[in-house]
Amino acid sequence: IPVEEFDLVIFGGTGDLARRKILPGLFRRYRSGQMPEGARIIGAARSDMSADEYRQMIAEAVAEFGGEESADKDGLDGFLRNLDYVPIDAKGTGGWDALAAKVRQDVVQAFYFSVAPSLFGDLAERLHTNRIANSESRIVVEKPFGRDLESARALNGTLAEHFDESQIYRIDHYLGKETVQNLMAVRFGNVLFEPLWNNHYLDHIQITVAETVGVGGRGAYYDKSGAMRDMVQNHLMQLLCLIAMEPPSKFGADAVRDEKLKVIRALEPVDSHHIVRGQYDESSDGPSYREDVENPRSFTESFIAMRCHISNWRWAGVPFYLRTGKRMKGRSSEIAVVFKDLGHSIFEGDEARHRNILAIRLQPNEGMDLQVTIKEPGPGGMRLVDVPLDMTFADALGDHEIEEADAYERLIMDVIRGNQTLFMRGDEVEAAWQWTDPLIAGWEARNDVPKHYEAGSAGPEDAMMLMHRDGRRWREIK
Ligand code: NAD
Repeated sequence: IPVEEFDLVIFGGTGDLARRKILPGLFRRYRSGQMPEGARIIGAARSDMSADEYRQMIAEAVAEFGGEESADKDGLDGFLRNLDYVPIDAKGTGGWDALAAKVRQDVVQAFYFSVAPSLFGDLAERLHTNRIANSESRIVVEKPFGRDLESARALNGTLAEHFDESQIYRIDHYLGKETVQNLMAVRFGNVLFEPLWNNHYLDHIQITVAETVGVGGRGAYYDKSGAMRDMVQNHLMQLLCLIAMEPPSKFGADAVRDEKLKVIRALEPVDSHHIVRGQYDESSDGPSYREDVENPRSFTESFIAMRCHISNWRWAGVPFYLRTGKRMKGRSSEIAVVFKDLGHSIFEGDEARHRNILAIRLQPNEGMDLQVTIKEPGPGGMRLVDVPLDMTFADALGDHEIEEADAYERLIMDVIRGNQTLFMRGDEVEAAWQWTDPLIAGWEARNDVPKHYEAGSAGPEDAMMLMHRDGRRWREIK
């Protein structure tokens, strides 16, 4: 179903994110028929180039990052016809008249701020002084949204001077992932899980986001940030919120975000014994973290594991273990909801610990499986075995075509539709920093030195101990 006609201005339209994710994503939406005739995408960036040169740049970007579909030359030509470009100076006056002349006032307007956050204020202000934005326009802002509570408040304040909260779309692309949305469908669309979703039946929850890549070319940025700011404060917290929140009264933007906010506010401070930070070592595949960031004295973490508690009625006593890191064993992200052991087994001689686990895989192979215990087939008596009840979409939906869409493209379409459900609200971001700040301040004050870990491993030994001490184990990173 096509969305309404729109003008989408991408500030930073020549940047890495725009070329790698935003424009290839929009191309796929175009091909699937979701972009209406007359929808327009206007790149706006510092480089002085013509619209034709910009189309050429985007054609190359789509060819490189657009996947198989970029082979459709006719489709690509059609898409490029919707593209325009304006050289613009976010901090000056250059280009703003030209942009004002191009952006229509009678269609949905969206402005994607794919630039450094230090330019957000300049852009927001100029969109108004040049009478380009109106009270219905939407702005999309990228992470990082601040580096602590103070800077996040300042950013929110700057945006609020020119735009109402209902116009601001703070992107966390994790919320655009199919499985993440499916998490809400599973929880609130089935009678099966929600009655068990509490401290009576759940032992603990694990959230793992493991990457095999190192910091790559982002070393300078990453070293000032670290895994806590780069991953936990936003992506992992969002996942935790969706797992832990109370059922909203309806699937609406504020109803969902109100419930997420309550979870963040109920997070207890984390004791330093329950936080493990790490840095990857040099390996045959690449340099160490410190070499990657060119800072031999860096204390920034490329890995973090922690045990958190949500202090409310539902979750009292149920730990949430979070871990994320770079240069790990596999590129795998999953949420595992681990149920409690049976109180009593009727099967004599079966000493094994059988547990139901609902594992929600964000990548690879987006899907979920439920570990159930069954009888091991054969004449060997009542021996039990744990098997996965696979719920990958591909299997479950059979021949139906599953529409492949990247998180970014889904979220951009939500912006055009005016649906903020999957975007972070300002108070949510601030609450997340409010919880994160003291933890960071704590290890900075202690001059905590990150533990070493072998590249291609599951993180430092201490992270294993974090679980072992509680009589639990991390799930294997595949
Ligand atoms: P980039 O450095 O590749 O591109 C920056 C863009 O901003 C360019 O198009 C440049 O022309 C434009 N620009 C810079 N100064 C300008 C000015 N004064 N006036 C007008 N335009 C100006 O950056 P990027 O990697 O594309 O990242 C953009 C934003 O997205 C950043 O906030 C970044 O943190 C965020 N982000 C990026 C990624 C990623 O994968 N690249 C992922 C998540 C978030």
